[in-house]
Amino acid sequence: MTQAQKNFIQRIGNAAAADMVVSGVLASLKIAQAIFESGWGTSVLAVQANALFGIKADSRWSGRVFNIQTREFFDGVTPTTVNANFRAYDSWEHSNADHTAFLVGSPRYAAVIGERCHIRACRAIHAAGYATDPEYADKLIRIIERHNLTDFDSVGKEKVNMNIIQDFIPVGRRNRPGRVNPMLFVTVHETGNTSRGAGARNHANYLKGNDAANRPVSWHYTTDDKETYQHLPETEDAFHAGDGAGNGNRQSIGIEMCVNSDGDFLKTIDRTAVLVADICRRRNIPIENVVQHNRWSGKNCPKNIRAGRPHDWNAFISKVKANTGTVAPAQPTAPVPVPPTAAIKAGDTVRLAANATYYGGQTIPAWVLNQNWIVRSVSGDRAIIDRNVAGTNAINSPVNVRFLTVV
Ligand SMILES: [Zn+2]
Repeated sequence: MTQAQKNFIQRIGNAAAADMVVSGVLASLKIAQAIFESGWGTSVLAVQANALFGIKADSRWSGRVFNIQTREFFDGVTPTTVNANFRAYDSWEHSNADHTAFLVGSPRYAAVIGERCHIRACRAIHAAGYATDPEYADKLIRIIERHNLTDFDSVGKEKVNMNIIQDFIPVGRRNRPGRVNPMLFVTVHETGNTSRGAGARNHANYLKGNDAANRPVSWHYTTDDKETYQHLPETEDAFHAGDGAGNGNRQSIGIEMCVNSDGDFLKTIDRTAVLVADICRRRNIPIENVVQHNRWSGKNCPKNIRAGRPHDWNAFISKVKANTGTVAPAQPTAPVPVPPTAAIKAGDTVRLAANATYYGGQTIPAWVLNQNWIVRSVSGDRAIIDRNVAGTNAINSPVNVRFLTVV
């Protein structure tokens, strides 16, 4: 990528991310369209008409017009060169704003607005007829993925959809221990506080006060039916699981759901499920590791959900799953290819690969690696190497056959 391209992504990306918060037009989609339609801002339309998105000037447009030749795929297959009028602007910012207004104002783009998955957003804008190029969606997706444009989606995503307010417990407070959290689990709680007004904001204030510091008690997020407060970076540990230095406190991200009597608990649950799904996606946490507070300390928490009010834990997990449609599955570990055992047999003289370890994973010393050995026996992928060729050493050690080559 050239410096000019980096600058283009920064300029359009920052505007797109800010725009997304208000409009729901996915930032990565907008940036990719700008790159593709304007050739990184170098097209005649971009330079002479400040037009980044190639929007045609039809009867809905009362502004300036720029006429230029364009390739169209009227039948979806064959390109045809035609003259067309395009919307012209005073600036790229103007073009950007009009692009958003164009999408938001056209009912046929309804499926694009609010779509958080870049793949679905690209397919939706193509299906709605933004461009006739049959490969339009795939081209946009490739641009997004090659240049990591989804980074701009996560900037605004949490704020748009989750309404997350970061209000951290100050560094150095007793309830902000600040150790590294490996983020292997998500722990779900209910506050147990049914007082009117005991929403996320009140709990944020509580966590910054002396009572919470002295206990000490802390967690990462509080959700209510309207907003979510984040009290700690996810990367730090907290005191919410009641298991001391156990995995609940040290290795999980803690979420408290508000149960204030003037709140809509069902909405709180739904909003929490979206948050949990987002955390699982970002931190690559498997759904099995979304657990109840009860798991760590035996406490009856989250109390209502454990009692099936308004529905049970399985229903909650289903909601999380329903929001993880875009979660990339964990990368499976590639199986280690095991050569057929016939390749190595008892009596063979073998040398060891330079990166070989003993069968249990222990380091093999250099003096063993540096000479040839005679195989005593083979069972499956496990070979016993015994004597060196010179007959001066007998080590009788197990090695995976994949590290052995017959000499
Ligand atoms: Zn709890």
